[in-house]
Amino acid sequence: MASTIRKLIAVLVILSLCHLIMNPICLAIDIISMNQQVIDGETVVSAGGIFELGFFSPNGSIGRYVGIWYKGLPVEKVAWVANRERPLIGSNGVLMINASNGNLVLVDDKNVSVWSTRLVNLISNNTVAVLTDQGNLILRYQNKLNESVPLWESFNHPSDALLPRMKIGLNTRTGEQILATSWKDDKDPSLGSFRTAVMDPQELLQVLILNGSLKHFRSGQWNRRNFIGVPSMTKDYHNGFQLLTDNNGEELYFSYALHSYSAPTLIYFDSYGAIIQMDWDAKENKWLRVQVVPKGKCDLYNTCGPFGSCNNNDSPICNCLKGYEPKYIDEWNKGNWTSGCVRKAQFQCEEMTTSANSDDERKRGDVFLPVSGMKLPDFSHYLLTWDKMECENSCLKNCSCLAYAYVDGIGCMIWGKELIDLQEFYRGGEQLYIRLAHSQLDKSSQMGARIAIIVSATVGLILIVCAIYVLKIRKKGIGSLITFRIASTQSSEANLLHNNLTRGSSLELPVFSFKCIENATKNFCTRNKLGEGGFGPVYKGVLSNRQEVAIKRLSRSSGQGIEEFKNEITLISGLQHRNLVKLMGFCIHGEEKLLIYEYMSNRSLDVFIFGSRSNDKAALSWNERYSIIEGIARGLLYLHRDSRLKIIHRDLKTSNILLDEDMNPKISDFGMARIFGGNQTIANTNKIAGTYGYMSPEYAIQGIFSEKSDVFSFGVILLEIISSKRNSSYCHSEDSFNLLDHAWQLWNEGKILEFPDPKVVGSLETPTQVVRCILVGLLCVQEHANYRPNTATIVSMLCSDTVLPSPKRPAYSCKDRSFDDPNLSPWSRNFVTISNVEGR
Ligand code: AMP
Repeated sequence: MASTIRKLIAVLVILSLCHLIMNPICLAIDIISMNQQVIDGETVVSAGGIFELGFFSPNGSIGRYVGIWYKGLPVEKVAWVANRERPLIGSNGVLMINASNGNLVLVDDKNVSVWSTRLVNLISNNTVAVLTDQGNLILRYQNKLNESVPLWESFNHPSDALLPRMKIGLNTRTGEQILATSWKDDKDPSLGSFRTAVMDPQELLQVLILNGSLKHFRSGQWNRRNFIGVPSMTKDYHNGFQLLTDNNGEELYFSYALHSYSAPTLIYFDSYGAIIQMDWDAKENKWLRVQVVPKGKCDLYNTCGPFGSCNNNDSPICNCLKGYEPKYIDEWNKGNWTSGCVRKAQFQCEEMTTSANSDDERKRGDVFLPVSGMKLPDFSHYLLTWDKMECENSCLKNCSCLAYAYVDGIGCMIWGKELIDLQEFYRGGEQLYIRLAHSQLDKSSQMGARIAIIVSATVGLILIVCAIYVLKIRKKGIGSLITFRIASTQSSEANLLHNNLTRGSSLELPVFSFKCIENATKNFCTRNKLGEGGFGPVYKGVLSNRQEVAIKRLSRSSGQGIEEFKNEITLISGLQHRNLVKLMGFCIHGEEKLLIYEYMSNRSLDVFIFGSRSNDKAALSWNERYSIIEGIARGLLYLHRDSRLKIIHRDLKTSNILLDEDMNPKISDFGMARIFGGNQTIANTNKIAGTYGYMSPEYAIQGIFSEKSDVFSFGVILLEIISSKRNSSYCHSEDSFNLLDHAWQLWNEGKILEFPDPKVVGSLETPTQVVRCILVGLLCVQEHANYRPNTATIVSMLCSDTVLPSPKRPAYSCKDRSFDDPNLSPWSRNFVTISNVEGR
């Protein structure tokens, strides 16, 4: 019996030895510390088991490298490599914390460092390196307050691959770049000749792949959703690239797949400069590889030379733009396109000063020929105007302007030098307007232009007839909804307002007849009243097509007036985002002014947080609250960064967040909002309008508003959502003055889990996300605007697990003198919107 057991033990020992030889030992830790080194054969695994760090030899090469890869999947691509330039020979390498200086270091068998994080003057050598579930290796230390402070991250030192949430970008002040560099070849991770670069925003943001110092590929301008030159890039906001900024816009970077973790994926560029995307197909149990670019010769930089346009579907692929001809026809015909094309005729503005032409010819100015589906040329200049006609006129007036484009998400772009790196797409791309001398419009274009004039005249005529017809029908009481462009039956005051609202803008907002509104609301029946805000009462209405709407009726006694009404219409009508409430139209009828919105069946968030629907049964779960917080942040990001105009809301509060039937949050009430132009970041007003409890100190006291004053209000909303307590009516204890102060006290006392509504945390296994959100809330309500994150950073803080900075004392906390002023007391019970308070 004993001998059988001995034999069994021997077999088990042999088996486990074999296993160790065949497979690296996986340390059940995600940390490398002073006492925990990693030797070749061992691996470190992130807490959730998603990523693994260890030693490897690429594709049968003999060198040993330390890298990071997706755990449990075939390692077809290592996402990050430490010692790219200095492989270890043999398997005696050790990755450890250097006891004397705290750096993470990789040493060979003679204890010589082959790679290190190379940080100098570290405050402490008490550091640890942690592998996160995002695949980020972070070296950090614990400060005296027991907070962990990141010192170095592998995400800031990419190899050739981008993992979700990783970033490439630049510091606009120092010019320093975070860039990725290709491997030399499949077997050699050392620096290859291709690298990424992010162009300075002065020239509009785009990403380049450089081959040495030459441009190899250009992404095309970033239009805040995708790169114009990569029409196949359909992935957008939720799982694609995003432009983020940090440190007040000083750091600009593209992050990939920021939103949420889904299937394993990575993007890398190979040693030939091609961008490859790899996605794990769980059904097929294999990696799927797609070459994103180049898809054809046209993707390579400037294939057709200046003024040449490239089309992968044409043969030959290069053609001169209309009005241009090959510079060297022989070269061109042989397929050598690099010299490009030259203009055939002078522009009219040039001719005025050079040769005398017939009067008739002179009168015919230059024209712009629209070419659609284009990758817009390199070296664009940005012009600050939100009007397409103004964009065109600016180009026309400037004789050296060769082309212009007006792109959603960017605005007006003009080109003054050569037009370089143009590509024509089958699908996608933008419209480019090329300047041409009138004589260059060919017969067919001129004929086309004539036909266009005849067609528009005919259409115009038909429209007028239709308008008269519609008006007649309206008189009969049938038609109820028409648009501005067709006709108007408003009073002269209404007409004045119409004209005022539409002059010089492309507003196409429907105008509703008063009759239609009366019918929809059953004569403003009180049963249909949804609520009442600063603007006046809000009614539910049902239009004749059965669509439900919410109708705001400007009451004459309202503190808000015609300016707010106009503001709301002009501002919100141009915006579209799933987290902004949609304005469907308006109505002006004598003294009556009404706004018609999409109906939000779950009404306003405050009812769920503080009101009748906050009881145990109907209380929002944490997941619902979190998705509401995230949605508000995304709506705000759109206002501050992603829309055509930068908009400061100025009256963000929980009651201005409406919820649709799926509980999607939508920011509403733009009566106080202001547009910021171009680079404007801050403004001042004497007319302070906002709501106590949500106003930042600099706005409440000095009338200064900016993105950061909205961030402050967002922070208050966030803390209210988590605690189910209203900041403006908070009354807790002698120690804490208000909700913000209360959160701060608990944070300092290490009792932050007492802050959330018990209904929220009760059911959670781990409250990490709740604590993270409270921390983000506290950062948003910092007294000094500079200490508050910007909106892009808030979104990234909410959606990733990067280490957050420690908050300082929030505004309006105990020792804050501004609290002495009863008018500014944020815990006053007055939480309605105020206006006309003169700033001191
Ligand atoms: P406000 O004037 O925006 O403060 O709105 C007053 C109240 O009317 C809100 O608290 C909501 O309950 C309700 N309300 C406003 N807009 C809508 C809408 N689009 N859909 C449903 N309810 C709304």
